[in-house]
Amino acid sequence: MRPFASMILVFSLVIPCLSLGADVPGSTPTPLLGYSPKTSQSEREWETKFRAIPDPANLRAYMQRLSARPHHVGSPYDKDNAEWILAHFKEWGLDAHIEQFDVLFPTPKIRVLEMVAPTKFTAKLEEPALAIDPTSNQKSEQLPTYNAYSIDGDVTAPLVFVNYGLPEDYEKLDRLGVWGKGAIVIAQYYHSWRGVKPKVAAEHGAIGCLIYSEPRDDGYTVDNVFPQGPMRPPDGVQRGSVMDFASASPGDPLTPGVGATPDAKRLPLSEAKSITKIPVLPISYGDAQPLLAALAGPMAPEDWRGTLPIPYHVGPGPARVHLKVAFNWDTKPVYDVIAKIPGSVEPDEWIIRGNHHDAWVNGAEDPISAQVSLLEEARAMSLLLKQGWKPRRTIIYAAWDGEEPMLLGSTEWAEAHADELRAHAAVYINTDGNDRGILNMNGSHSLEHFINGVARDIEDPETKMTVWQRAQLSAIADAKSADDKKELRQRADLRIGALGSGTDFTAFIDHLGIATLDMGYGGEDEQGIYHSIYDDFYWYTHFSDTDFVYGRALAQTVGTSVIRLADAEVLPFDFVNFADTIEMYTKELQKLLADKQGEIRERNQEIDEGMFKATFDPRRPTIAPTREEIPPHLNFAPLQNAVDSLTRSAKHYQDALSQKQATLGDEAMAAKLASLNKELMESERRLTNADGLPRRPWYKHLVYAPGVYSGYGVKTVPGVREGIEQKRYAEADQEIVRVSKALEDESELIESAAKQLDQAGQ
Ligand SMILES: [Zn+2]
Repeated sequence: MRPFASMILVFSLVIPCLSLGADVPGSTPTPLLGYSPKTSQSEREWETKFRAIPDPANLRAYMQRLSARPHHVGSPYDKDNAEWILAHFKEWGLDAHIEQFDVLFPTPKIRVLEMVAPTKFTAKLEEPALAIDPTSNQKSEQLPTYNAYSIDGDVTAPLVFVNYGLPEDYEKLDRLGVWGKGAIVIAQYYHSWRGVKPKVAAEHGAIGCLIYSEPRDDGYTVDNVFPQGPMRPPDGVQRGSVMDFASASPGDPLTPGVGATPDAKRLPLSEAKSITKIPVLPISYGDAQPLLAALAGPMAPEDWRGTLPIPYHVGPGPARVHLKVAFNWDTKPVYDVIAKIPGSVEPDEWIIRGNHHDAWVNGAEDPISAQVSLLEEARAMSLLLKQGWKPRRTIIYAAWDGEEPMLLGSTEWAEAHADELRAHAAVYINTDGNDRGILNMNGSHSLEHFINGVARDIEDPETKMTVWQRAQLSAIADAKSADDKKELRQRADLRIGALGSGTDFTAFIDHLGIATLDMGYGGEDEQGIYHSIYDDFYWYTHFSDTDFVYGRALAQTVGTSVIRLADAEVLPFDFVNFADTIEMYTKELQKLLADKQGEIRERNQEIDEGMFKATFDPRRPTIAPTREEIPPHLNFAPLQNAVDSLTRSAKHYQDALSQKQATLGDEAMAAKLASLNKELMESERRLTNADGLPRRPWYKHLVYAPGVYSGYGVKTVPGVREGIEQKRYAEADQEIVRVSKALEDESELIESAAKQLDQAGQ
């Protein structure tokens, strides 16, 4: 899974072909970050050899095999795929094994959705097989359309249309005066992670939740529907998990915080915190249209209306619907396939690289399109090993199972190995699905400079410019303001996005504090097959990276990253961009508070002036808002001081490293490097706190977290940001102190690393 591919606009650009990397013929190339000039040169040679190996024909063959049948958790082909991946790792000479966990995985037993008034209608809840699409007819192996970890339920109630089902949508419904407790709501997919919709609905007293795919978002409004085009057909349904992972934790709901091994203590189902409070069912726009068309009441606000040929009313009723769902609450095995390449100098420092192998159905795009790149990377590395390459650090390749239900395989593995990972993990790199287009880079900002360097060494298959240049120019094309365009042209590195959730990196960064990167190509192809039976080999080879050249680019990008991290004499973290990012977040938080104060002040004034009386239309009645307390000022000084400390220590470390670069390979440096790297590995851990975030102790990272009300969407400096957003101002003030303390500690660590370098070789 992962959030719906961001719809990046891409303009075709004609740019002269530029040479790759920092090397200009005839000049000495700039050494790589964390490498001496000599090792930098041999590293570049190994990397060049590596990038020549991945072969699109192999990627295509792997995909055809791995997506040939449905392979969700607990299915025969899920296990078969895990064994096939294991056999390949072994055939390539890697030390590999399968690690099994036993997890709660509900599958549907009963699914009924019908309208009982004012007319009768029974929803199909069925995606038809298509003659042209050879795997769409594997009915006996396909999971029905459903939302995993919905609670069982049998409810009948008036229907209310709630737009995307976010807190602000309910505020608007309050203003329209239509909201009554006890309704079944129908929400559109997207604009938040799906599990937020039933969570917010339950908080507002709803007793059931339907989520439908609106054609405006991924249906005929965007392009032709499958099989004529890539978009969602009328009966296509988005399956998906609605586990409330953001407020509780991802992974097996019965073993929070520990690996779901056979001897693990399990909660009774009734105590599992992450199961929804009300029953949920996803539906197609074919099934949604008659329900929405039967609603009366006020017209939906203009920006809520989709593109179905109906007037969008909000209700409540007269449409009354009956929703009944019941599930088999079974324990199922998940099979993580783990392969190891031992490090030759620092075997106790680990670079981990993962992608999931399970899918909702055949899952050619999600996740196999990036799983095949992972396999080709592993094969290429095995060939380098045969040619004498000896990675300095240990490399671990992981094909996760159970990602779709909610990061089951990766979370259980990370929890089961938490102590080892805290001691040994240097970096985790994730992918999950791949398409044509722009390289999307997200992760820990201490790795921002590093990953920009890798992107400068990879050729874009379509434009033949570097993927870095393509990403920069397309970002300039999309930038909204002149200031943004200027920064994109002048800043040495492109900013990378912060990590929220939605895929397997979550336990590594949020729970364990391991520096993380997440990457993928995309933005050129529209898709409306996400989590449906139509995400298959036929769709992928007609509408996405049909010749697998972006699959090769992904293997080259991630493989180069892994090798470069594994071989560096000094782990290539850089803290100048990190400090710059924290400074940006601090300003964002101050602006968030000021905007909120201004907004409430303005609304209070409008109430006093009688504005809501003046704009009242008796035929379209609305309810005026009530006066609200203006948010207090918060003390941002500790955060601003922490930014200053970070900026100073980051610069000191950067200078110290560049001064010692020439001598990194010297014999006298060896002992120093070991303790320096150990300290650097700790740098992301310093940003965590053992008590975790307010009300969600599993989430330990104080800088990055998924949002309680955004799900996959990130909340940076979450304690403070969500404190302001949720009007918990005293808590936000306390969180400023807590996060500032962590940043001051981080700054001390960076300063100490800089001093180690200053003293080295003296
Ligand atoms: Zn996925």
